[in-house]
Amino acid sequence: MFSGSKQLRSPVKIGEADPNIWYYIPCNKPSMQPSRQDKSMHDIVLIKGDGIGPEITDSVTEILATAKADINWIPAQAGMEAFEKNGNPLPDETVELIEKHKIALKGPLTTPVGSGFRSINVALRQKFNLYSNIRPARTLPGVPTHFGSVDLVTFRENTQGMYIGRERWVDEARTTAESIAIVTREASERIIRAAFDYAVKRGRKKVSLIHKANILKYTTGLFLKVGQEVARDYPDIEFNDMIVDNTAMQMVIRPEIFDIIVTTNLFGDILSDLASGLVGGLGVTGSANMGDEHAIFEAVHGSAPDIAGQGKANPTALLLSALMMLEHIGEIDKAEKIRKALYRTLPDKNVITGDLGGDGNTRIFTEALIRNMR
Ligand code: NAD
Repeated sequence: MFSGSKQLRSPVKIGEADPNIWYYIPCNKPSMQPSRQDKSMHDIVLIKGDGIGPEITDSVTEILATAKADINWIPAQAGMEAFEKNGNPLPDETVELIEKHKIALKGPLTTPVGSGFRSINVALRQKFNLYSNIRPARTLPGVPTHFGSVDLVTFRENTQGMYIGRERWVDEARTTAESIAIVTREASERIIRAAFDYAVKRGRKKVSLIHKANILKYTTGLFLKVGQEVARDYPDIEFNDMIVDNTAMQMVIRPEIFDIIVTTNLFGDILSDLASGLVGGLGVTGSANMGDEHAIFEAVHGSAPDIAGQGKANPTALLLSALMMLEHIGEIDKAEKIRKALYRTLPDKNVITGDLGGDGNTRIFTEALIRNMR
C-alpha cells in the first residue's frame, strides 16, 4: 500500500473467492446487506423506465421468472412517467426504495428536455456514490461484428472528471467557456482497486490504465500515479498504461490486447461505447453502476422513442445487465442457464430483433429464449 492515503479496501487474494462470481463489493457488513422481507428472496427495485423500457423489462422479468430466479421485484417510478405524474422525474419514494433495498434494475430513462432537471442517471450515480461503471464487451454468437473475438471489460470512474457540472462562461459576451475537471486520489484509488479486485476474482490477467498524462498532467497524471501505486498490491496481475488516443486506435486494430481497462469518466464514456461497437453496439451491452453499498444495473442504450410501443425493442442489453445482477446476488447457476439460452437464441435470424438484422420482435425473441432454456 502506498503512503499518504487511506486504503479503501484490502486487495483480494487469489483463491479467496470463486473466480466465477461477479461481485467484488464487500457486502458483508450488516448495513450493506440488501434488505429481504422473505429470506429466500432477493428484494430488488425495478424501474421499468420510459420509451421501450416497459417492453424490455417485461421481457427480462419473464425470462428471469422462467429461470426461477429468487427475486421479489419492488416496483418504483422514475423518468418521464414520474415527471408527468408528480412533476419530479426522481421521486423521493424511489430514492428511499433504492436506499433500503440496495440493488435496482433500471430500464432507460428519458430526461425531460428544457425542464431544468439534470440527467436522472447522473443524479442516481451521485446520490448513491456509484463510482464504478462496469461494462463487459464480449463477442456474442450470431451478432455480426467487424472484429474477431473480443472480451474486455471497461471500468469507468463514474463520479468525477469532466462530469461534475462545473462549467461557466468566462466573459459576458460568451466568447469563452470553461469546464473544470476534478480528480482525487481517493476516487482514483477506489475505481482502480475495483478493477484489480475484479481481475483477481474473475481470473483475468491484465489491467490497462488509460490516461492523457502527457497533456493533462495534473488530473490524469494523478490517476496514472495512483494506478502505478495500486498495481504494486497486485503482483499477479499484469499492469500497463496507455495514452487515450493510442488506445482508441489499438482497440480497433488489436482489441485482443485489452483485458480490463480502467480510466477516468470522459475517456471511459467514449472508450466503453467504442468497446460496445466492437461487439455489435449498445443493443447488446449490459452495464453495472456500483458503489460500496448500492448497485444499479441498466442497459447502456436510451429509451428509443422512435420504436417505443411497437414491440421491436431488443431486450438483450437489459438482459445482460440483469445477468450481471444475478451474479452479483449470487444466483450464478441461473445467470449461466439464461446466458446459455441467450447464446443459443442470438444466431437465429427468425427470432432476433430488427436492430440485429433479424425478422423477429421482442415477443418472438423472448419466447424463443425461454424455449431454449428448457
Ligand atoms: P437511444 O439509445 O434511445 O436510441 C438510439 C437508436 O438505437 C434509435 O434508433 C433506437 O431505436 C435504437 N435502439 C436503442 N436501444 C434499442 C433496443 N434495445 N432495441 C432496438 N433498437 C434500439 O438514444 P437516443 O435516441 O439518443 O436517446 C433517447 C432518450 O434516451 C433520450 O431522452 C436520452 O436522454 C435517453 N437516454 C437514456 C439512457 C439511460 O437511461 N441509461 C442512456 C442514453 C440515452
